[in-house]
Order: sequence, then C-alpha cells, then structure tokens
Amino acid sequence: MNKQRTHRETDRNDGPPRLYSVAHMPRVDAHVHLGDSGDARRFQGAMTRAGIALGINLSPSREMIAGTANAGRRTKTRILHAPGTYRIDKGLRWSRKDLESFKAAGCVGTKILCKYQSGLNRKAIVSKVKAQEQLGGLPLWVHVVDPPRPGFWQPGFWDRIHDAEKLIRDHPSLPVIMAHGFWLMIDDKGLDVLAGFFDRYSNLNVDLSAVFQWWDPPQPSYDRLRDFMITYADRILYGTDATASHAKKRYYENTHRILETRGRRLNGFFPADSQTYIRGFGLPKETLNRIYWWNAARLIPRVAEALSELGWGASKERFHSLPAGLDMTITTGLTN
Ligand SMILES: [Zn+2]
Repeated sequence: MNKQRTHRETDRNDGPPRLYSVAHMPRVDAHVHLGDSGDARRFQGAMTRAGIALGINLSPSREMIAGTANAGRRTKTRILHAPGTYRIDKGLRWSRKDLESFKAAGCVGTKILCKYQSGLNRKAIVSKVKAQEQLGGLPLWVHVVDPPRPGFWQPGFWDRIHDAEKLIRDHPSLPVIMAHGFWLMIDDKGLDVLAGFFDRYSNLNVDLSAVFQWWDPPQPSYDRLRDFMITYADRILYGTDATASHAKKRYYENTHRILETRGRRLNGFFPADSQTYIRGFGLPKETLNRIYWWNAARLIPRVAEALSELGWGASKERFHSLPAGLDMTITTGLTN
C-alpha cells in the first residue's frame, strides 16, 4: 500500500548533511530505454563516466525483468526497471496479475506508451491503471504526444494532454510521471498550463527527458522557466531518454551544465534541433537535490535503498531527511 505521510524535519543539527553539494549529489536518470542486457551493460559504463548513479529503464525485456527477480534486492543495482505494460495502439501487453509479479520481482513502476494517439481513457486501459493504483507503490510513466512544433505537431495535441489530465485526476493516489515534461515545458503557455495541473493534482510529476534541447531562445522565457523549476522543484525529475547508443558522457554533461551553471552557448542532451544555444539556469542547490535524486527517492521504489547501497547515505534515515525549511509529502516508495 502507499505510504502517505507528511514529514517535518525538526532537528537540523544532528546526523548526516541534508543536502549534497553539487559536486557530491547523486544523479538519477529517471527515463532511459534499454532493451536487453547488452544495452544495460554498455549503458552502465556510460553512467559511470557521466556521473549518473542510477537509471530507470522504461523498456526492459521479459528476460531483464526475470533477471531483476533472480538477482535479488541487494546487488548494488544501477539500473531499475519499469516495464512498458500498456501500449494504447496495440492493446495491453501484460495482465493485471502480471502487475503483482512485476512488483514482487522488484520492478519500480510501469509505462504507458501513447505517443499522440487517443484512447488513454479506454475502459481496458483504465481498469489496469486502477489496478495499479490499488496495488500501490508503483508509479506510472505516461508518454504522451510529440511536441506541438512544426515537423512534430500532430492534430489533437491538446486533446491528448486533456486525456492524460483525466487519467491523472481519476487516479489521485497513483503517482504519475509524465514523460518529456508533459511537453508543457517548452514554451510559456505550456508552463502556465502545467503550473495549473501541478496545483490541482498532487500525484502529478514530470521528467525532463528529451526536453533540454527545446530550451533554446526565445521560448520558453529564461526567467519564467527558471522560476518554474524552483517553484515546482519537488515535481520534476531529471531524465534524458537515453538509449545505450545515446549514453555519452558529453550529452550528460550538457544537461548538467544547463541545470547547474550559468554557462552560455550550451547544447541539450540530444544534438541540437536548431543553431541557437541554451543558457544555463544555475539552479540553487536545494532545487538540484530535488530534481536530481530526492524526487526519485521519494516516488520510485528501491531508489533510496539503491543509492544507500551505492554509498549515498549511511542509512535510510538520510533519505527521510528533507532539505532545511521544507515540508514535503512522501507519497510512496521508501519502505516498499
Ligand atoms: Zn522515452
């Protein structure tokens, strides 16, 4: 079952540090695609070179899932799996019962791939989403649409956004992670809509996969996006959309510079879609800690445990400690 509780840190002088410095904080990539164990091996090497502690794999094969179960839970895991359970254009790939076995095997969530197709709220999909909500402890990643830009735009973009909104609203205790910033982080209009969604739906989160390269001027406005990331830092997870072949140190460093520095002439994770460059946001340490790892540790099962095993945090207690002066609702994961 979900753990619902609000934690207030009261004693700020004892115990391990609550915040990591930029140089030492763990970085969790909450959105990668690795289809077989060879991919996973190659990716793990890239993670080490790029300073990524953990990756959440949204495309594991059945063999990889079985491997998760066989490897047990204490193996210094670097890659955790969230299977793509639903694909709305091709029907459901796994049964309701499979959800329980995924959870038992140590999977950390599921994914619906819906691209720009309608049908997210079909009965057959919703019954499984409801089952996942009732099972508890497994967040749901939703891939929705392509960005509404020339060359990508698909008719019905806003219809699909509101399909997803309905799913989020109808399952309030299911943590939902909208991939690609819900495609609402690439212009000011989208940021306004997403702010409204965040205010209304406390179970909504987004990952930053494939979003960085859309942050070149003029949209979204630099100050507007920076303020947005600080305001909603506890709803945003770092992610890239990397595959084994995209997992290059320099791509990861591009994203780190964008978030951590005030650098000029920066590129996104993927090669640029245009000739303009991105300016770094130099986000505060409190914001970076949340985007890079805290939200993942809070929302995704096994992340806190895995980070602990890798050397971040002497005990689970560190992950129950919040950045100073902040209240946060822990919705799931830490004890699952
Ligand atoms: Zn993806």
